[in-house]
Amino acid sequence: MSQLQSLRGMVDLLPEQTRRWQAVEAVARDHFRRAGIEEIRTPLLEVTELFARGIGEGTDVVGKEMYSFLDRGERSCTLRPEGTASAVRAAVQHGLLSQGAQKLWYAGPMFRYERPQAGRQRQFHQIGVECLGVSSARSDVEVIALAWDLLAALGVQGLELEINSLGTPEDRQRYRNQLVAWLEARVDQLDSDSQERLATNPLRILDSKNKATQALLVDAPTLLEALSPESASRFEQVQELLSQLGIPFQVNTRLVRGLDYYGHTAFEITSDQLGAQATVCGGGRYDGLVEQLGGPATPAIGWALGMERLLLVLEAAAQADPEGPAARLTAPSPPTVYLVNRGEAAESAALGVARSLRQLGLSVELDGSGAAFGKQFKRADRSGAAWAVVIGDEEAAAGVLRLKPLLREGEEQRLALNAPSELAEALCQAEQR
Ligand code: ATP
Ligand code: MG
Repeated sequence: MSQLQSLRGMVDLLPEQTRRWQAVEAVARDHFRRAGIEEIRTPLLEVTELFARGIGEGTDVVGKEMYSFLDRGERSCTLRPEGTASAVRAAVQHGLLSQGAQKLWYAGPMFRYERPQAGRQRQFHQIGVECLGVSSARSDVEVIALAWDLLAALGVQGLELEINSLGTPEDRQRYRNQLVAWLEARVDQLDSDSQERLATNPLRILDSKNKATQALLVDAPTLLEALSPESASRFEQVQELLSQLGIPFQVNTRLVRGLDYYGHTAFEITSDQLGAQATVCGGGRYDGLVEQLGGPATPAIGWALGMERLLLVLEAAAQADPEGPAARLTAPSPPTVYLVNRGEAAESAALGVARSLRQLGLSVELDGSGAAFGKQFKRADRSGAAWAVVIGDEEAAAGVLRLKPLLREGEEQRLALNAPSELAEALCQAEQR
């Protein structure tokens, strides 16, 4: 029979990678707990209209990238391409917004039909934060700091924070007219994608990855110049607060973000180690979205970071500094005990001992190979376990086991086979010495 393969852009996480993911998720979970942010889990499948309304018809995500299909009841469904719309839908649907500001986080797979390459997949994963019901410049900075500090806690290095203000809908309308007029005079110099966007979503041209278009845009009018005095002073305040916290940033007047619902503060955290897929984390304020999705007018801000890209940066950091936090984070955690056993009676006794020790909270790797003792000891050494517990038929017949330190000098001890708590205690005492 022919072998089956995973779909293009859909990637398996093998045990070694899962370990890293869990370590990252554990740091994130603790980080959010300390900030009073609670987890929300929403379905992967939603009605298509949620994203059409919540992200915007003119965006790449809705226009080209969604996994949409009719289900058996002929409803148009979509695998979620991002987490914000779902979090907002859930908050509205369950009346969470009447209980005051909501600080939520989520983690999980997202789906976009894109061209797969390093750091870009069709099923990818995000960790995200959404704060609903907060409007101040201070809340913008708190939310940005949450992302920045999480990445720092993970030991990621060489990151850059870029910020911009997208102002109010009126600011953007004014700017859109200026920009369109400027670009129409140069339409023949634009790449074809950007020419198309000129009619549908001109601000997105600022985000073009085309080199010639980028060069042209250097002289284009900026959104910052088009901001009303109120929007400008709000943006000033964001910058001041970031400076007060000692978080370095750069203003990037061309940062617009891909989704339609952003206004005022927008930001991205990039790494120079990711090539073209440089953005690890992106976010911003989306004051119009909750209403757009049928909820009460509610200001909001959030961000999402890409796990795959984060892991790429973490691997680079771990290689650059093998003793540093990124390397420690991804190091394997060896078992406490490696259980060497051979012979019929020994093997069944070992099964019970492994089970009892695990029930007492110890991590135990039970060698199930039945191989020669020498081979099993080699594997025990390679496992990184601190202790070998050895049971052969001779020990099994005498009702004992041998406890042997692997990582340091020390006497071998003989202990009763049927008294696992004594064994656990011996291990604890030895650890304390
Ligand atoms: P890009 O410009 O790289 O396509 P985006 O603006 O579409 O990014 P967002 O929707 O802001 O991305 O998602 C937030 C983060 O999720 C990105 O910064 C990135 O780290 C990650 N991300 C987005 N799309 C993908 C993908 N297809 N594969 C892997 N990670 C992704
Ligand atoms: Mg994209």
